[in-house]
Amino acid sequence: MEVIFLGTGTSQGIPIIGSDHPVCHSEDPKDKRLRVSVLVKWKNKNILIDCGPDFRMQMLSNPIESLDAILFTHEHNDHTAGLDDIRPFFFRQGDIPIFAHKRVLDALKKRFEYIFASTNKYPGAPGVIENVIENKTIYFQDLEIIPIDFKHNRLQVFGFRMEDFAYLTDLKSIEEEEVEKLDGLKVLVINALRIKAHHSHLNLEEALEFIARVKPERAYLTHISHLLGFHEEVEKDLPENVFLAYDNLKITI
Ligand SMILES: [Zn+2]
Repeated sequence: MEVIFLGTGTSQGIPIIGSDHPVCHSEDPKDKRLRVSVLVKWKNKNILIDCGPDFRMQMLSNPIESLDAILFTHEHNDHTAGLDDIRPFFFRQGDIPIFAHKRVLDALKKRFEYIFASTNKYPGAPGVIENVIENKTIYFQDLEIIPIDFKHNRLQVFGFRMEDFAYLTDLKSIEEEEVEKLDGLKVLVINALRIKAHHSHLNLEEALEFIARVKPERAYLTHISHLLGFHEEVEKDLPENVFLAYDNLKITI
């Protein structure tokens, strides 16, 4: 299994438009972060987790030629706004399977009503195949995908475990029985927004505590704000099995 970090930034991305913060003016490419998403390559299939506003550029810069499924963590715009841009994949492949909580599918239907229209559908609109996720194991072909259920402030969010890889973003609180699903991971990806506390995201200290509790072989931090600091400086002080993810990083599990 290979994982490509397509974006590792928080909702506004880095740099933030018009910001005079030094991190937003950094010349280190690792300090430029598109909105969060990862691509999981498994047996020549491309499984996307979240499809945010930078989806088109992420597909072009990697480049990705086919898309086999999209898993959504939750309905916030930084995780869903790119759905219309699946059109090139739809034109070549037909309807694209999407997997999400029923609440998230309902939100997508409001926002992208034309994609889900069953009558008089505009011929240029993309098509999707809806799959509702509950908090139980799903299968993509013979790949077992275990949803991990947690809270982003009060909003329910799903993370996903596939084999020994798990991707959890926008986490603030989680029940013990969900943490148990993360036993024996080789790679854990977890959100770490910034240094100071935040109402809906783990900060750096909380993310490191979470990693110490889960004990994966390696962990990567994502959904990063400019307020976390410069990539190079923050990474120097992390435990030896913890890394800051950066855009276009590829890892093999
Ligand atoms: Zn987010």
